[in-house]
This record gives sequence, structure tokens and C-alpha cells, in this order.
Amino acid sequence: MRLTTRYTLADDLLDCPAPKLFDALGGPTLFDLTRGLPNPLFVSVLQHGNEVSGWDGVRMFLAGRGAPPMLLYVGNVEAARSGERTLAHQRDFNRAWNGGDSPEARLARQVTHYAMEARPRLAIDLHNNTGANPHYSVLTDLGAQCLGAALAFSRLALLAQHRDGIQTERFTEFCPAVTLETGRVGDPGSARRAAAYLRAAAKWREIPQASFAELTVYRNEVRVAIEDGDADFTADAPLALRAELEQYNFERLEAGNLFARRPTGATDIGLRATDVSGADLTDFYFELRGTDVLLREPVYPSMYTRDISVARQDCLCYFMTPYHP
Ligand SMILES: [Zn+2]
Repeated sequence: MRLTTRYTLADDLLDCPAPKLFDALGGPTLFDLTRGLPNPLFVSVLQHGNEVSGWDGVRMFLAGRGAPPMLLYVGNVEAARSGERTLAHQRDFNRAWNGGDSPEARLARQVTHYAMEARPRLAIDLHNNTGANPHYSVLTDLGAQCLGAALAFSRLALLAQHRDGIQTERFTEFCPAVTLETGRVGDPGSARRAAAYLRAAAKWREIPQASFAELTVYRNEVRVAIEDGDADFTADAPLALRAELEQYNFERLEAGNLFARRPTGATDIGLRATDVSGADLTDFYFELRGTDVLLREPVYPSMYTRDISVARQDCLCYFMTPYHP
């Protein structure tokens, strides 16, 4: 897998929906639209191939106008072809920015190197959330510019705690950076939000600044992953998950709530909850009573997804806590 660099973005590419980009581009592509000008915007889309609203937002943003000085990284077009987050033979593109020897890590290194040279004034990584979540940003740095860039999108922000190689963290080493979770795939509002943000950001001479108190910041303290490979959102699955919990993203779920079901005679939960340090908190958060997997603690879920392939590949959800520095 090689990174291709292009210096123009043809208008007809803007007519190309994400699943067609692989045919048009052949692989991950960095568009250098800086025209040699300093302090461009850096925008990345499709690090997750099924999250098309970033690309759709870029199409809306650029349609009928010249691009501002920007670097545009179009990531996993191969997975986008089949509408998947990541293909089976790949590593997650947005978990590969902290080094390593995988093809995805080498690619991330090339993009980082190119971006550093261009000295971007802001890096914007566009994603969709897969569950029913409000739109929000993800931060790894609470500097005034990162907070300002986040607040321009939403009052809600998540401070990423499971820092397993995401682009935004890598980029905050040399510029303000923010991940925007624009909303669900398929909600036209998600692409519109992305486009509106890019229009605003293109006009910023200085990145706006904000204070922590202006935002509501949560931390994803706990990651809930699926242990039982036969998990599904059907009542008869060996780990029967509950699709309706998706509605509780960013809401409080009380202790005692049914979280999943196990077959009669099961002795383990089938899920694993871990904190940032990797400590296993499964038994702190869950108990098995008969066939019911119950919550032992009140939680604020986020990113709970009922897309079983995403849940298996990445995780089922996080449990958040309000963050106070
Ligand atoms: Zn994503």
C-alpha cells in the first residue's frame, strides 16, 4: 500500500461517492492543495471506510469554489469500496499513528511527515459515529486552540483516553488538532455539519481559543469489548446484546439495568471492560445473575454501536465520566 500525492483535485472527483474512490484513486491519497502557501488546513477523511460523511462534507465544501490552501488526506478507500470500517487484512487506519511496521503505520508516518513540513494551522479528522450519539469532538489536548476548534463544532467533547494511535494525538505534537464525530452515517446532517465546519475553518486566520469551562468534556474511561465471538443483537445469540441501549449514548444508565444475556449455564460475562491502563474492570461493572448480564454501577455509555462488525472489530461502547481537570 503506497501513498499517492496529487497536486490538483479534479472537479469530477467531487461527483464521486466514497465507494467509487478506490477506482478513481487506487489507494490512499494525499491531495496537496497548498499551492506552496504556508499554514494550510489539514483535513482527513475516510480513515474508516464506512464513515463517508467527511468525504461528502468535503465534496459540498469544495463544490463550485476553489480550495483554500489545504492538505486533504483520503484514507481507506479500499474499505470504503465495500462500506467497511477496516478490511480483514488491514489494521485500523486510525490506530496506526503511533509507530510500528504495519503498512498502515508506514502510511501514517508518510502522511505525518508531509503534514509536518507544511506546518498546518489546524488538523481536522472527520468521522461518523456509528451509534445514535449527538455530534461532538474528540480531543487529546486541552490547549486553548484545540478547545476553541472543538467548541466551534459542538459544546460536547470527549477527551480520548484510550490513546491507541489516533491521528489527532500524533498531530497535536505539531499543530492544534481535533477529531469531529459528525453524527451517523446516512444522516445528511452529518455531511452538512462537516461542510459548515470546513467553511468556517477556512476563514480562520487564527484558530479560535476557548476555555475548558465553555465545553462539556467527558472522558472515555472504560472500554467495553466483546469477548464472545458469537455475540449478536439477536435474542438467541450466545451473547445476546441489546440494540436499544444505543439510545442511551450520553445518557445515564442506572445500576441494575440489563446489559446483555448469556445462555443458561454460562459462567462468564462474554464482555470485557478495561480502563485506560488496561486493568480489567469487568467484574466491577457487570454481574451475571442467572442468564442476565446486569450493570453493577451507573454508567454513561458512548459510541454504543449496534453494528455487530464494528462492535467486534473495535468495541461495543465506552463508559464515560464527566472530566474535571
Ligand atoms: Zn471513525
